[in-house]
Amino acid sequence: MGPRIVLLGAPGSGKGTQGRRLAERYGIPLVSTGEILREAVGRGTPLGRSVKERMEQGMLVSDETMIDLAGERLGRGDVRGGFILDGFPRTLPQAEALDRLLGGLGRPLMAAAYLRVPAEVVATRLSARLECPTCRRTYNPSGLPPRRSGVCDDDGAGLVTRQDDDAGSVRRRIEVYAAETAVLRGYYERSGRLLEVDADRDPEGVFADLVAALDGAAAGRAGT
Ligand code: AMP
Repeated sequence: MGPRIVLLGAPGSGKGTQGRRLAERYGIPLVSTGEILREAVGRGTPLGRSVKERMEQGMLVSDETMIDLAGERLGRGDVRGGFILDGFPRTLPQAEALDRLLGGLGRPLMAAAYLRVPAEVVATRLSARLECPTCRRTYNPSGLPPRRSGVCDDDGAGLVTRQDDDAGSVRRRIEVYAAETAVLRGYYERSGRLLEVDADRDPEGVFADLVAALDGAAAGRAGT
């Protein structure tokens, strides 16, 4: 049985990168709501058409839409053995809805892992970020470069800038994070489920700390 966790942190704190690695390590799905929405936008579905503009502007999609989407995704069989949530919840109502949803399924959230990164580092990371258009893996020329410049390590596709990584949208997403999402740290801390990791360093070190924290939390639970 793998962990059931949420990754918390500012945009650009490394949630996608770490989420991908954690999912691989524990053999459980990475559920990224941003990814699900980008795919819907790419396919031009009714959901995609309804969220496209807000996403491009770096604004949040409504709680109602996101709670429905998360409920649908987390109701599927592949997350029974655990999951890593990236990008959800992003507001207090979403966090409360997630607890209700998972409580109802009898599989409560184990922890929220908070990736702590100073605000100025986040802005620099986002403005330089590159993404693989095929597998969506992200890179950064300074901290997390691909082996061959401009090319995805996994599938050889040419890397591109994510559409909402332009300067205006980056600023807005950081503001929205501070206004709506930062409170979640307190929400999980109050309920004794917060794991905090210094994420302003190399991805290997962050990953090692995350695994140690998650395994430690699981062992603690098993012992009680
Ligand atoms: P992300 O890939 O997590 O940075 O998400 C990209 C964009 O998708 C965000 O800027 C929002 O517009 C939207 N989005 C993703 N997840 C959520 C969520 N839980 N609540 C509201 N909007 C979201």
